[in-house]
Order: sequence, then C-alpha cells, then structure tokens
Amino acid sequence: MTLTGQQLIGNSESADSADTFQGMNPTTGKPLKTRYHEATTAEVDRAVSMADKIFGTFRDLLAERRADFLEAIVEETLALGDEFLELASAETGHPLARCAMERDRALNQARFFEELLREGSWVDARIDRGDSNRQPLPKPDVRSLLQPIGPVAVFGASNFPIAISVLGADTISAFAAGCPVIVKAHPAHPGTCEMAARAIISAAKRMNMPEGVFSLVQGKGNEVGTHLVQHPKILAGAFTGSLKGGRALMDVAAARSVPIPFYAEMGSVNPIFILPGALEENPEGIADGFVNALTLGVGQFCTNPGLALGIQSDQWDQFSALVSERVAKYPPSTMLHEGIHAAYTEGIIGRSENEDLLLLGESDAEADPSACEAAAYVFETTQQGLVNDPTLLEELFGPASTLVSCAGVDDMVAIAEKLEGSLSATVHGSEEDLIKFKPLLKVLQRKAGRLIFNGYPVGIEVCHSMHHGGPYPAASHSFFTSIGTRCIQRFVRPVCYQNWPNSQLPLALQDENPRGVWRMIDGERTRDEL
Ligand code: NAP
Repeated sequence: MTLTGQQLIGNSESADSADTFQGMNPTTGKPLKTRYHEATTAEVDRAVSMADKIFGTFRDLLAERRADFLEAIVEETLALGDEFLELASAETGHPLARCAMERDRALNQARFFEELLREGSWVDARIDRGDSNRQPLPKPDVRSLLQPIGPVAVFGASNFPIAISVLGADTISAFAAGCPVIVKAHPAHPGTCEMAARAIISAAKRMNMPEGVFSLVQGKGNEVGTHLVQHPKILAGAFTGSLKGGRALMDVAAARSVPIPFYAEMGSVNPIFILPGALEENPEGIADGFVNALTLGVGQFCTNPGLALGIQSDQWDQFSALVSERVAKYPPSTMLHEGIHAAYTEGIIGRSENEDLLLLGESDAEADPSACEAAAYVFETTQQGLVNDPTLLEELFGPASTLVSCAGVDDMVAIAEKLEGSLSATVHGSEEDLIKFKPLLKVLQRKAGRLIFNGYPVGIEVCHSMHHGGPYPAASHSFFTSIGTRCIQRFVRPVCYQNWPNSQLPLALQDENPRGVWRMIDGERTRDEL
C-alpha cells in the first residue's frame, strides 16, 4: 500500500501544510521514508464538521448496519496482510509476532462489539407503564434507553500501535454506539495509523456508511489534538497514554465553554502484595511470574507491576534473591521511541541516586542506548523509603520495579492507604491469608479497578465483565472501562421518552419489541412484548 502521509478526511485526502514529520525505527534510530503532514486547524475543522453533519444519519442506521460495518473493518484489516504488521514492527520495535497478536486482539474485540450490536440489549431499554387512573396523580408512561452522544475524538498510546490505537476499543465502541470518530494519529506510529485508517475507510465505503463517519489527522506536536478536543462539535474524547498527556487534555475538555466527558486511561503502578502463605508455597513460581510480568513488552504495559510488597521474613529475603537472579537474565531490549527511552533512563538515574533504595538486581548484559535499549532493574526499600520519596509510588514506564519489605500487616495496610488510584492490584496468598489480611483487601478495593488473585496484571481479557480503569490517576472517570464491551457506555447517554407515541419511539422501546432485546418492564427483566 502506498502511504501518502496526508490527512484522511472522510473519503478525501488533504495536505494543506508543508510541515512534515517522519516515523522512526527505534531499533536502527533511522527515520522511515514517508513524510506525514501536520494537520492544520482548518483540516481538523473539516473533519469534525463532516462528522457532525452525518451524525444523525449514522446514529439512525439499523444496528445491523453498524454491525456489518464492524465486520467489514475486520475483513479490510485482515486484507492489509503482513505489510501492516511489518510497518507496525518497524515503527515500534515490537517483534512481528507481537504485532500479529495485537491485530488479532483488536479484531476479536471488533467481533465482540459486532455481536453486542446484533444482540441489541446493550441499549438498556427500560419501560415503566403509565396509569391514568393512579391517584392522586396519573402516572406517566416513561421509557428510556442509551443513545449515542455525537462525534468522538480518539487518542491512542504508543505502546499498542494496533490494539489501542486507530483500531482499538475506543474507535470500535464509538462506532458501535453510533458515534462518528476522528482519530489523532500517534506520532510514534503514523504509518500504522494511516494503514489502519485506510482499512476503516474502505470498510465504510463498501458498507455505504455516510462519508465523514471516520477521519484521521496527523500531528507531531500537541496543537492538533488540543484543537480537536476544543472543537465545539466534538462531544466526547477517549485517550490512552501518559498521565501528563491525559491530564492536559482532560483540562482542555473541562475548560471548554461547554465541557465534555474526556475518558483518559493513564499510567498505573499496579502493586503486587505477596502474602506469607504464597511465599511459603511457591516462591520460585512467583519470582518467575513477577519478573516476567515486569519485563513483558520491555515493561511498556500500563499494567506492569511497579511495586511488590511483602512482610519482612527469611522467605521474603529468599524471594528477593530469586527475583534478583531472574532479573539478571533479562536481555536489554528496544523501547518504543527515544522519548520513552529517555524518560526511563532519567527515572533509573533518579532511583540509583536515592539513598533509601538498594539496587537488588539488574540485567547482566549492557543496554545499547543507540538502539533505544532498556535493561531491567529491581530496587528494594522499606515503608520509610516510600515516605521519604513518594515518587516511588508513581509509574516508571519500563522494566523497573521496587520491592518493599514491610514490618507487618499494619505497615502493609499503611502503604496501601498511600497508593494512588491504580488500574489493578494483585494479591498472592492462601485463602487463610485473605482472612488475616482483610484490612488490606478493604483498602485495595478502594484503590484499584481490577483485583487479581494469585496471577499477574499484564494480559487483559477482552470480555463483557472486564473493567480496565480505576480511580484517578489511573483513569479520569473511575466508573468507565476502556477494554471490554462495557466501554460502549462512554459514548452514550440515557434519553427518556415520556408519554411518547409508540410508533415514534426508538425500536427497542416500542411495545412490540421488534428487536427482541432484553428490557426492564416495570422493574422486571424480560424479552416479552408489552
Ligand atoms: P502520551 O505521550 O501521553 O501520548 C498519547 C497521545 O496523546 C498521543 O497521541 C499524544 O500526541 C497525545 N498527547 C500527549 N500529550 C498531549 C498534550 N499535552 N496535548 C495534546 N495531545 C497530547 O503517551 P504514550 O507515551 O504514547 O504512552 C505511554 C503511556 O500510556 C504510559 O504511561 C502507559 O502506562 C500509558 N498507557 C495506559 C494504558 C491504559 O489502558 N490505561 C494503556 C497503554 C498505555 P503528541 O505526541 O502529538 O502530543
């Protein structure tokens, strides 16, 4: 496929600005050949106006038509073939197998939403029948369901160029909800974004979707994304990335004269609590699992464990030694781009200079900075070390973690209390441990979006029950998830119809229940007609 590096606005291409940038291959440090044009504000405005203009048409399509659109996106993405994976690999340094895994994950996710649409009950239709004879006042007929919010701006993260980018759950769930999407391409993988966008546009054309249902704008600086979020016709934003970027855009969304919901999924420290029963049973297995979770994807997952806590004991010392041995074997590997590599290097230097931290282990082999390589590091400290330097409780993006030895249960609970909101918290233990450490579990329930028992936080199942979010700063709104079918709820709002004529109601609210969806009628779940 020939990439043009232009903005893809509906079915047209545009390159108003002569300012260009290139993607970089982090492994070679060399720029890739295509030049991408910075979007101008006029181009962003055109994309948003087009999306706004066709919103009503797209929203009113039968759900099956939108499901067919998602199916076509899957087909068009598969038709991109290996060229797509090779480009994603060149732009990110991810091995080809990882890129293939990401593509399959993204497409499975799209199929999930396709099924959700065909089944239809996700609209949460509710009907409370009226009663004109009710005393002292007649009861109105009240019905409600979830309806799409309007054009959505999407920002993907650099670490998932396929699964959390143009083809990620943000775009797909917004389409499923009935919202047009404008994606701001990630400057670290602009070509992968363009190829994925072309697949979506081909699918949209083939399925006769209204032009403007999808656009892609490119940009290396923050201006393009900021202008997009400020645009009055954008009605929601979805972001995955750093706390710094997410917070900046949240503030932009909140400062508008009409503020909009901005769903930011950000970084997280993902603590692991290793309780005595688990250490007694399986120290080797937990050390293997922990180091694997820490180094997977060169530590560039939002769910890599940045802290592991245990109670001071001989078993804990033995566990620390096992971790140290395993970390030494980790071969330094290429990070996503120079910016992330520089931030990681700076973070490691800062930790190495911290007198409360002991370097417990590091990769034996030396990292090659010219290939953006990162070595793995594990530090050790105590509760006092965390008190002295609260930045240790923040995400350091990369294969580094800190073991914290606690004096006892109270110490561990006190540290848990200090944790910021996290995407996940993990507990390794026996069932007896869970009883003994109940106060800890109560704290964790307030701190994290996903609680894992005897497992590891990396690897997030795409399913109906998944919650990938958490209290701030893990996410901007702790109620919402960015993975799993529930994430469609970010792009809809309940609309209530009172005493509305049956024929003019949305299908899911009509007496006959023509779509056969589950509804709540007078408080009871049923698929029956009225
Ligand atoms: P990033 O630097 O925040 O970039 C994400 C996107 O936001 C990019 O398109 C970027 O474009 C844009 N952006 C950043 N700052 C902006 C600003 N001030 N104004 C306007 N746009 C802005 O994040 P990243 O380095 O790609 O990703 C790594 C981070 O993502 C890690 O912290 C990781 O934990 C997190 N992450 C979270 C999840 C999750 O599900 N919670 C998943 C994966 C990754 P520009 O570069 O053009 O500004």
